Amino acid sequence: MKKKPFVSLEQVQEMTKKYPTPFHLYDEKGIRENVRKLKKAFSWNKGYREYFAVKATPNPYLMQILKEEGVGADCSSYTELLLSDKIGLGGDNIMFSSNVTPAKDFELASKLGAIINFDDITHIDFYENIAPFAKTMSCRYNPGGDFTLHNQIMDTPKDAKYGLTKLQMAEAFIKLKEKGVEHFGIHSFLASNTVTDDYYPQLAKILFQLAVELKKETGVHVAFINLSGGVGIPYKPDQRGNDILAIGEGVRKVFDEILVPAGMGDVSIYTELGRFVMGPYGCLVTKAIHEKHIYKEYIGVDACAANLMRPAMYGSYHHITVLGKEDKPCDHIYDVTGGLCENNDKFAIDRCLPKIDRGDYLVIHDTGAHGFSMGYNYNGKLRSAELLLKEDGSTKLIRRAETPEDYFATLDFSEFENNNVK
Ligand SMILES: *Cc1c(COP(=O)(O)O)cnc(C)c1O
Repeated sequence: MKKKPFVSLEQVQEMTKKYPTPFHLYDEKGIRENVRKLKKAFSWNKGYREYFAVKATPNPYLMQILKEEGVGADCSSYTELLLSDKIGLGGDNIMFSSNVTPAKDFELASKLGAIINFDDITHIDFYENIAPFAKTMSCRYNPGGDFTLHNQIMDTPKDAKYGLTKLQMAEAFIKLKEKGVEHFGIHSFLASNTVTDDYYPQLAKILFQLAVELKKETGVHVAFINLSGGVGIPYKPDQRGNDILAIGEGVRKVFDEILVPAGMGDVSIYTELGRFVMGPYGCLVTKAIHEKHIYKEYIGVDACAANLMRPAMYGSYHHITVLGKEDKPCDHIYDVTGGLCENNDKFAIDRCLPKIDRGDYLVIHDTGAHGFSMGYNYNGKLRSAELLLKEDGSTKLIRRAETPEDYFATLDFSEFENNNVK
């Protein structure tokens, strides 16, 4: 399928009059429509709830849009909790799925009334010295071994640092029950960016069977099962996207097969999607500022890996559209690079694109999740702005670009006063 940007050259030209490139741009209409479809896919489950994984796109304006659609927040750190509190999320609107959790993070999560999802059995004793146990608490499960789908290894939970073993799950539930906990959650995250409609149903099967066993063994009430994140998006044009309605139907099928006969038809299904919810509805807009002809052909742009780390870090593919040249033949082969002093700072390698001229605007697709948020300041590069393309077609600045003052804000220069050359 041809990948089309959600923004046109004319729109970008208008935006850059006020906001220079590079910037991340988000599509309100796309976000809302997608979330509504996700909720529809699980509408068969009375207690269904999506907790957006804040780490994917920690911007309060975007979280507010999701909040208006009935979505909560999945946090894993102190500042993500603060951010959720700032937009008025609290209580069971926050899922706290952390690991290696500092005491002050548990303290704040408890104060905000968040649902706490323990990553380890030892955290129960650790937590007891910090905050009171709530009526509802959750534990993260790690089944160990390899996680396979259709005889293909998707990931290796046995090598993952997360979660409790099966034996520990039962032990933890008994322990928490003794502490007065009444309602229990089970959570697991076994594979990332899955592009198949079978991941969630397969994970659900594992967790539903576990829930039935745990209930038998410990007698606790399982209130919810949290399928966490991991539903992916098609970064490449030849990939077929996930059909979220089919995924919801697949989970319903195993729900009816396993939980309903066990008298557990009241269990709520939760999700903590980040990438699926936001990924396709954000892009990085950047300008070609240099071209270089040596052993290869290079296009240098004004964004760099500090604005989008995935290609450098994982070798990830992100599709690129040259705005205004959507219908031109892709008869040039380029490396599209940023300006970090790192040779992996390449948004694309040997990519077929139309002829690019200096001043052309490039859209780097699918940066709405794990894009801006993974940014960093290496080489003194500054974080870009974030803009929202609203449903009415107007543009709103939802985070300004960093300035050198921001970069220096944590330094005390008083010992170096009067040293400036000019
Ligand atoms: C990262 C993360 C998610 C979201 O993952 P996606 O791949 O973006 O869907 C959800 N839950 C937890 C605990 C995570 O760490």
